[in-house]
Parts: sequence; structure tokens; C-alpha cells
Amino acid sequence: MAPGCDGRRCEDRTLTAMRHGPIPGVHGRVRPLTLLGDPVLHTPCREVTEFGPELGRLVEDLFATMYAARGVGLAANQIGVPLRVFVYDCPDDEDERHLGHVVNPRLVELDGVTVRGPEGCLSLPGLEAGTERHDHAVIEGVTKTGEPVTVHGTGWFARCLQHESDHLEGRVYADHLSGWRRRRLARRISRTSWGRDTSWGRGG
Ligand code: ZN
Repeated sequence: MAPGCDGRRCEDRTLTAMRHGPIPGVHGRVRPLTLLGDPVLHTPCREVTEFGPELGRLVEDLFATMYAARGVGLAANQIGVPLRVFVYDCPDDEDERHLGHVVNPRLVELDGVTVRGPEGCLSLPGLEAGTERHDHAVIEGVTKTGEPVTVHGTGWFARCLQHESDHLEGRVYADHLSGWRRRRLARRISRTSWGRDTSWGRGG
């Protein structure tokens, strides 16, 4: 997920990480981002079944790519890998930082009020649209070494968890839009260099 309008927050968080421990992604490779219209973004990802060094490298590459793009969350299919893995480094509405990764996540709780807020995505660069999300989300999954993990999110971080879970199901935030918001985003996509030829929003 893209950080919205305040890009400086990413730098602040990186500095915090430098003071408190190793920076995730420091051994990773920055990989090219897939963009809206790439079939890998519109197809459900596969469960991870091998928990070896390759999975560790994928998580590192996801962090490296997310930080390079100044994002707050990134799913594996956004770097062209069709596996159920995402990473995040995202504040909630109380500005508490949430940093981690989840393998084979399942959205097990989704409740609270629905909030429409500006949402962007590194796979639709430069664009955002008001998107409805629940205010509370819980994810269960495992880590890269297969340890069970539960992630609770509220506010902006709950939005991030829903956004990244959607990616693994082959959906993007734009798929949630309807009416004039959907038409306006489709128009804006059609004016970008990367979105001219996609069929999104034109019945495709
Ligand atoms: Zn995204």
C-alpha cells in the first residue's frame, strides 16, 4: 500500500529501525513492481509450502522493494511472485508502528465501523481513491520459518491488512470502487503511461 500524502513518515520509521535493530530488507534486492493489468495481480496467489531460504529471500526482497518505493505494505505478486506472502511497516491511527511479514495469511476477523479513506497502491502509482474498509481486522498466518502468527490492526493499519490480503486474492483497491469514484479512477488510469492499455474499469 502507498503511504498516502505524507511520504516523510517512511524516513522517520527507517531511522527508528536503525536505532533499534537490524533493518528488514537490508539484504534484499529491490525488484521491479508489477502494475495494474499484469495478470499476476489479478489472479489469486498460491499457498506457500516450502519454508526454506528462498522464502527468507523473498521476504527480504519485499521489504527492500517496499522501502525503496516508500510504501507501507507490499504483497509478493506486486514483485511478480504468485505466493501468499506480504510485508508491512505501517502506523495505525495512534501512530504506533507495525512491522512484520505474514505467510499464508487468512483474514479471520473483520469488523468495526466502515471508514472511507484515501487509499493508494504501488501497483497504481500516483493515484488514490476513497475506499471503504473496516476499522478492525485480524490476520492469522505463519512466519517465514513456519511459526504461527496473529496480527491485529485498527485504523490505518487495519486498512493496510485488508489491502494486502486483497492482493493475495487477486484484487486491488480499485476493484472495491463503484459509481463515480470507479469511473473517475478509470479515467485517471487511462491517462497514465502504464495504464493506457489496461482493460480495468472498461468491463475487463
Ligand atoms: Zn497495493
